[in-house]
Amino acid sequence: MVIEPQVKKAIFLVWILIVPAGFWFTYHSYPPQISDNWIDVLAFLLLTSVVAAMPIVINKMFIFLTQWVALAVFLKFGLFVEMVFAQVAVIVLLLRLRVYQKDQLFRYPLNLNMFFIVSFISGITYYVLGGEMAPELIGNYRSIWLAALYALSNYVINQIIVSIHLHFIYKERYFGKDFFVETINTVITFPIGIVLYILYNQVGLLSLVFIGVPVISLSIVFNLYYSSQKVNEYLQKAAEIGHQMAERLNVDDVITIFIQKICEMLPVDYAYILEVKDDKLKLLRQMEMGDATSNEIRVLQKYEGISGLVWSNRKAFLFSTRKEWQQYANGYIPIDTESILSVPIERSNKVIGILVLASKQKHAYEKYQLMILEILCSYFAVATENARHYERTKIQSERCALTKLYNYRYFENLMIQEFEHLMHFDLHHLSLILLDIDHFKSVNDTYGHQSGNEILIEAAERIRQLVGDRGTVARYGGEEFVILLPNASKESAYQLAEQIRQAIADHPFTLHQSLDGRQHQVEITVSIGVATAPQDAEDALALIRHADRALYVGAKRAGRNRVAEYSSC
Ligand code: GH3
Ligand code: MG
Ligand code: MG
Repeated sequence: MVIEPQVKKAIFLVWILIVPAGFWFTYHSYPPQISDNWIDVLAFLLLTSVVAAMPIVINKMFIFLTQWVALAVFLKFGLFVEMVFAQVAVIVLLLRLRVYQKDQLFRYPLNLNMFFIVSFISGITYYVLGGEMAPELIGNYRSIWLAALYALSNYVINQIIVSIHLHFIYKERYFGKDFFVETINTVITFPIGIVLYILYNQVGLLSLVFIGVPVISLSIVFNLYYSSQKVNEYLQKAAEIGHQMAERLNVDDVITIFIQKICEMLPVDYAYILEVKDDKLKLLRQMEMGDATSNEIRVLQKYEGISGLVWSNRKAFLFSTRKEWQQYANGYIPIDTESILSVPIERSNKVIGILVLASKQKHAYEKYQLMILEILCSYFAVATENARHYERTKIQSERCALTKLYNYRYFENLMIQEFEHLMHFDLHHLSLILLDIDHFKSVNDTYGHQSGNEILIEAAERIRQLVGDRGTVARYGGEEFVILLPNASKESAYQLAEQIRQAIADHPFTLHQSLDGRQHQVEITVSIGVATAPQDAEDALALIRHADRALYVGAKRAGRNRVAEYSSC
């Protein structure tokens, strides 16, 4: 919400114009009744300040319970003292709310004005209606009613001013939750104020202890209860995020969930996940103002910058203002950052990464949020490790270790799937190329099994290069390869098979690991069979069988080093 500078000036001017004059008027019209009670007045002032500095916090809403002290002060010492205390209370509570920013300073005169008006009008109303200073309340119902009327007018004027203020300055409507809370507040604090006043008349300053201690203790207990409830909520959320991460089988997905959920859960303007790699910190993922960004961020050397600090200390850090972290900063941090929360990501007692969260607000994070993040980071470390393990196992279970091509198990499933597509007319053709190296046994016999393996690896690579993204290459078994080409007609499959045949036959293979330890150039040929569905086969197994038949009958038997298609044999 942006407030015009003129409005801010006007607010300040109103304070200068009305408040000192109002004080002067009150002092002369209703002189304070202090006599030699200065110590008592100071004790009440202290109580007011303590109560103002200890608000109850619910859903980020601060509730200040200063009215009960104000009521006792008003009744005992008169309007003037109450007005002074109200001004002090405003300053204490705004300081407590950490209103220091230059563009927020107008909130001081604004609230001082509001409190002044509330105090002044309700006080004058009380006196005009016949209320006295330091009334005798015990057995005197009229005075109690007048005191209640004072509290009521205080409340009503406050509500009117707040709603006018919201309407004109923030263009918002009142009578929401704030209204409700303020009403409850008044109802509860009125009797406390009356009791404090009566007790003060009886026992003097001890009354502040009798009433002040339980009330303040209650608000502390309430805050503790409320914050433990909040921590519980966060813990629940963290557990949920932990589950979501654990369900992901892909490292990238785990990282996405982690950064997104954290940005939703906490007030985060900038988030970075850095990874420890080769004793350096590299950026793994970033999110700025809710968007995944990809700034080029310099790699940090070991223990450099704020993340380096977290890394070397193996400890989470929380900074509330720029001043606190400026001396450590050495890497990339957006210019308007104030609060920073940074946590090491550890696995097996080793730092494997660093999480950095930042906010443009000062004091954006609290200690317990850091604790929750530490839990989340350990979930994250486990989830990424599991996902990585799964990815590795998946690759191992799908691929041939020697050639890194898909294995037959994977291929068979793929072929069944693609046949389904063909059956549902999502594909026009499905071609299959089956390839067998000629006289491979003699290569093994002459140069050794290792050399045979070298040829398999090189042949696999040449085939993969030629097929590219037109289809899927797999190792069918021993020295046989198979290629599945969705939507390739028989002619184009045949052409590709011919290219492969030539790519193998025309360029000799270099062997480095032959039995005699010398390097050899070996010429290799392959025989190839091609079949295409739907014309050659009605199911997946028939497609393979027919390509196999083409290979053995059409290519091998016809002299090897050739391509044969099913229909021609
Ligand atoms: P043809 O032209 O009739 O296909 O003759 P061939 O010698 O290639 O045929 P055969 O099927 O008799 O021999 C295949 C050989 O491939 C047998 C086996 O030793 C070899 N082989 C199978 N798998 C591997 C492997 O993983 N590595 C090596 N080096 N050789 C293998
Ligand atoms: Mg062979
Ligand atoms: Mg064979």
